Amino acid sequence: MSHSTMAELRRALDGRWAEVRDTVRTELATSEWATPTEPLPITDYRERTTGQLLRLMHLPWTKAGFSDEPGTPGDIGASLTMFEMLGHVDLSLFVKVGVQVGLFGGAVAGLGTQRHHDEYLEKIAAGELLGCFAMTEVGGGSDVANLETTATYDSDTDEIVVHTPSPSAVKDYIGNAAKDGTMAAVFAQLIVDGTSHGVHCVLVPVRAADGTAMPGVTIGDCGAKIGLPGVDNGELSFDQVRVPRDNLLDRFGQITAPDPAKGTSAYTSGIESDSRRFFSMLGTLVRGRVSVGGSAGAATRNALTLAIRYATRRDQFSRPDLGDGLGSGIRLLEYSTHRRRLLIPLARSYALALATNALVADVHDKQVGSGEADADETAVRRLEERAASLKVANTDHASRTIQACREACGGAGYMWENRFGALRSDVDVFTTFEGDNTVLLQLVAKGLLTQYKDAFESFDTRAMIGFAARNVFESAVERAFGGSIVQRLIAGAPGRDADNALEDRGGQLAIFEDREEHTVATLAARMRSRSSDEDADPAEVLSAVQPHMLAAAWAHIDRLLLEAFAEVAEGCEDEEARTLLCTVCDLFVYSTVEANAAWFLEHGRISAAQSKAVSARVD
Ligand SMILES: Cc1cc2nc3c(=O)[nH]c(=O)nc-3n(C[C@H](O)[C@H](O)[C@H](O)COP(=O)(O)OP(=O)(O)OC[C@H]3O[C@@H](n4cnc5c(N)ncnc54)[C@H](O)[C@@H]3O)c2cc1C
Repeated sequence: MSHSTMAELRRALDGRWAEVRDTVRTELATSEWATPTEPLPITDYRERTTGQLLRLMHLPWTKAGFSDEPGTPGDIGASLTMFEMLGHVDLSLFVKVGVQVGLFGGAVAGLGTQRHHDEYLEKIAAGELLGCFAMTEVGGGSDVANLETTATYDSDTDEIVVHTPSPSAVKDYIGNAAKDGTMAAVFAQLIVDGTSHGVHCVLVPVRAADGTAMPGVTIGDCGAKIGLPGVDNGELSFDQVRVPRDNLLDRFGQITAPDPAKGTSAYTSGIESDSRRFFSMLGTLVRGRVSVGGSAGAATRNALTLAIRYATRRDQFSRPDLGDGLGSGIRLLEYSTHRRRLLIPLARSYALALATNALVADVHDKQVGSGEADADETAVRRLEERAASLKVANTDHASRTIQACREACGGAGYMWENRFGALRSDVDVFTTFEGDNTVLLQLVAKGLLTQYKDAFESFDTRAMIGFAARNVFESAVERAFGGSIVQRLIAGAPGRDADNALEDRGGQLAIFEDREEHTVATLAARMRSRSSDEDADPAEVLSAVQPHMLAAAWAHIDRLLLEAFAEVAEGCEDEEARTLLCTVCDLFVYSTVEANAAWFLEHGRISAAQSKAVSARVD
């Protein structure tokens, strides 16, 4: 391969923030940063990760997500790319930085107003104020709108009283809580003058400078976990802890000072509905989800690189010597089973990496380009759905692929120094935090159902089912990552039933779109038929259609991935690089059709002969 082809390939894969990737590659390439080659005791690993976090926070390029100009975001694309690259280094470090900068810093930046930015952001960026993001409770992690912790405004003292009313309201699994965090962004039901206004976020000091818990705060340590040993996850509970009213992160809802004449205070918000306000708040935190997906993708590429390199060097069994003296060892990668195990996930990794690049650019352009506050709400929702889609797709792929890579390296794969153990156990929880994958897939499906009518303010089961029951769907996909190249390809595609539809890029795109459209339309039809009875229990209807919701979300995800891949591969200017990328893109397409052959066959989209031909192409 020529140098120019290699450079072009790298340019295509590195995307818009290539220089950030190069900086991380240069500055964090030493063993001092990488995951240790032997398991460390948890206390040592935590010390090491905290030390790394503090050192990182002094490097200028880690501040990309923070801006010097008040009220404006930093270079969001650079910051998200930096997070993704930390996934190549060490996942404990990624999570530790993610909690500090992405979650805690992100809550202050996204949910707070100017006074919070002025007071805290610089200290957060410098690592002088270490913080936690305390949302999950023992009783509920996925259903966060109904969490139990309360934040009650006391107009007599102009303070907010944060309280844990029951054992199930204890904040659990909170990163940075067990050892380092001195302040927590606590999510709680805000109560003003006896009225609850839904979940809001309040800054609560949790630890004094000497490391002891603040009065009224109880801190626990989650101890050893399956992975991420460098992250100090802990529990937090509050016994009537008082903080000034100013500690409410009040971009979306404000408490006005008590009226001296009436002695009452008031709650105000530009968004009337509690649930819509809460979902708008969550929307500002979308970057966390993008980062988790991106870093899981990076960790997967590490595993694939190790396993594929090993497979190109290791022989197992030999060709029989037929008397011509040519008997020789067989490279692992010569086995078609081995190629299937590693190269199919590799092709999907390419698709995921390119789609993640497109998502990062989208988030950057929406939050920096047009200004987050002005962005149109539907566009923001679409972005959240794409972030959820790629979070699920990247993390699901990571768990499966890292295990496959471990097995593909045999006994060597089981040795700690070869990294699969740490990669596998660290990445495991990525399918759970920043939104459990099964719950997120349902959120994605809900978004697909409401593509043309944004009738919902929250993931409300009854409203969604009522909506599906009332509306006949003529689903049509909304193009996400495909630009002019994808448009042109689809316009020139042969018909769905044409013999060469699967070999033509436009035909492939049309087939993936068709699968998504059909699955969404039949999901709506199922919901309609199940909810035609007035007394139908929405929870039961939802439960009955859940598998179909997941199928629709996966069809959507596969279509997003193909759009992103096709746009880059077909648009590549170097011919050799384009041919290579297009071959990998074909493998992604054929292996995806093969994995879903039952659907394509059952729905008459491909014949049995075509299905066999697809498998032959994968081979
Ligand atoms: C290492 C680690 C670090 C974390 N860090 C933080 C942090 O810093 N801050 C923070 O606030 N939280 C944090 N969390 C919490 C994390 O976000 C939650 O664990 C996660 O949201 C899932 O919630 P849960 O544990 O209550 O699981 P549950 O919501 O109880 O889910 C359990 C199972 O039920 C399934 N399920 C749930 N609801 C549905 C449904 N409607 N339909 C179908 N299936 C469903 C899920 O798929 C899952 O398999 C962390 C967790 C871990 C493990």
